[in-house]
Amino acid sequence: MKPTARLLILGAHPDDAEFHAGGLSLAYRARGNAVKWVSVTDGSAGHHQLTGHHLVERRRGEATASAASADVECEVWRFRDGYLMPELKLREAIIREIRAFRPDLVLTHRPWDYHPDHRALGQAVQDACYLVTVPGILPGTTPLQPDPVVAYMADPFQKPIPFEPHCLLDVTSSIDAIVGLLGNHESQFYEFLPLSFGAPEPVPTNPAERLSWLRKWFLERTRWRTERWGAALDGIRAEEALVEAFEIAEYARQPDHDLLLRLFPGAVLPNLE
Ligand SMILES: [Zn+2]
Repeated sequence: MKPTARLLILGAHPDDAEFHAGGLSLAYRARGNAVKWVSVTDGSAGHHQLTGHHLVERRRGEATASAASADVECEVWRFRDGYLMPELKLREAIIREIRAFRPDLVLTHRPWDYHPDHRALGQAVQDACYLVTVPGILPGTTPLQPDPVVAYMADPFQKPIPFEPHCLLDVTSSIDAIVGLLGNHESQFYEFLPLSFGAPEPVPTNPAERLSWLRKWFLERTRWRTERWGAALDGIRAEEALVEAFEIAEYARQPDHDLLLRLFPGAVLPNLE
């Protein structure tokens, strides 16, 4: 078994990796393990006023700053935000990326989620899972054997199939660090998303007050995770707690108990314990 694990997060948008798996990413880096965040789309639909290359460049800068402060690799691809489809060009880009980075663990969205880009990416990653091992696909790149474990990041949606957590992580101790990463995405968390999703209080203009506002907003947006799974994690239920949850995809490598604990250090495995 390799001494280190490599984590690749394929998110649809420039802020998805931190939002859904910031705690796991930081835990990997704390152990010296390689982490790469990919935003598959260019983020060009993520604002109520800005458009076009001005927004794309701003979001690319925000993603780069966040990745730099987390000390992880980062790429923002050029698929158009809001228009992602699970087509061959996307599937090939995913296979090339997985074969080049050689991750032990790939995280992405489920193909059942509110955002069509999330659904399209989840489908495209499913489509790539087996094909990364097949030599006849994309000759000139090296097929993987074994293939990486693929897991979905948590979402609250129930139809057609509810998210089923295989790994639960208490990342409460990383809340401030995660909020610090999210704060790099000013165009999202201070401008677009409070309008898009609503926020109980207006966004402050003072930088320190903004971080405190974002901390509160982020914990409100993720509290459903704590309410749903906190009891499995020594009963954490406090408002000041944060859970990350992951579901193993069926179409990629199936990990045993030991591999799961290597890929998700410190996790509780609710279906296996
Ligand atoms: Zn997204």
